[in-house]
Amino acid sequence: MSIRILCKEEFDLKAELLKMEGTIPRGYFSASQFTKYLNCGESYRYHYEKSIYSPPSEKMAIGSVGHELVELHIKSQLETKLIPEADTILESLNSIFSAVFSKVPEKARELSTEALLDIIKNIYTCWYKEVSSELSPVSSEETAYFLLDDMWPIMAKLDYINLDEEGRLEIVDLKVGKMLRDPKNSLQLGIYSLSKGINRVSYDTLLLPGKRTGARRKKEGTTLSEEQLGHIESVLSTAARGIAAKIYLKTTPDFWGCSLKYCSAYERCRGEVNKHG
Ligand code: SF4
Repeated sequence: MSIRILCKEEFDLKAELLKMEGTIPRGYFSASQFTKYLNCGESYRYHYEKSIYSPPSEKMAIGSVGHELVELHIKSQLETKLIPEADTILESLNSIFSAVFSKVPEKARELSTEALLDIIKNIYTCWYKEVSSELSPVSSEETAYFLLDDMWPIMAKLDYINLDEEGRLEIVDLKVGKMLRDPKNSLQLGIYSLSKGINRVSYDTLLLPGKRTGARRKKEGTTLSEEQLGHIESVLSTAARGIAAKIYLKTTPDFWGCSLKYCSAYERCRGEVNKHG
């Protein structure tokens, strides 16, 4: 196994070649591709070979708008070297909201626009209060590239790189949702770490407000060891070879993602089986 960091030009050449040859669907890999393949090879095939996927849900769209507000905040801070006012960032809320929610089908909408805007303001304001004074970003929305095993180009989209409280560079991924993720056991953060050679990684999570609680923010980081990164490399290497060989295993029926709610291929795949009892 080997890792070599690539510049964009080298990455584009390698990816173009693999795409032309039809070796892998997109010509390159990403954290979301690997995660989908490792969760269910068949759902990877539907998504990346047959382009069958679902439109975003309301919850995903809330996450995307919250994410974009934070990105805007960090970009503004990087450009001006000043902490922006929350109200200035929130001036962009309506336009970001319209663009993101235009992709959510009407039938997937449960809450009114007003209620959705309130939730999003609540999560951004929570992040702002907790983070803005301690944030030291060095980059935002950077795309990094590397080559695995001298063969597979991999793209990593990093939300932001920060200087942590001890002055160390850390790669931070922002999440908006209902659950906390463990940075020590994250394929995504492992890929990001390999893409930059930075082994300090964190999740910055905004937890959606509940019935009795407002939005909450939790940041949890770790330093990935050589052994942990070596394991991630071996997982990626096996998955890359599996995809190139078109080995698309179906997941186990009791996997949470193997359901109508979470799998966009369900009706074509397992739904067909369940029709017959
Ligand atoms: S229904 Fe289950 S087995 Fe079929 S593609 Fe979806 S997750 Fe995979």
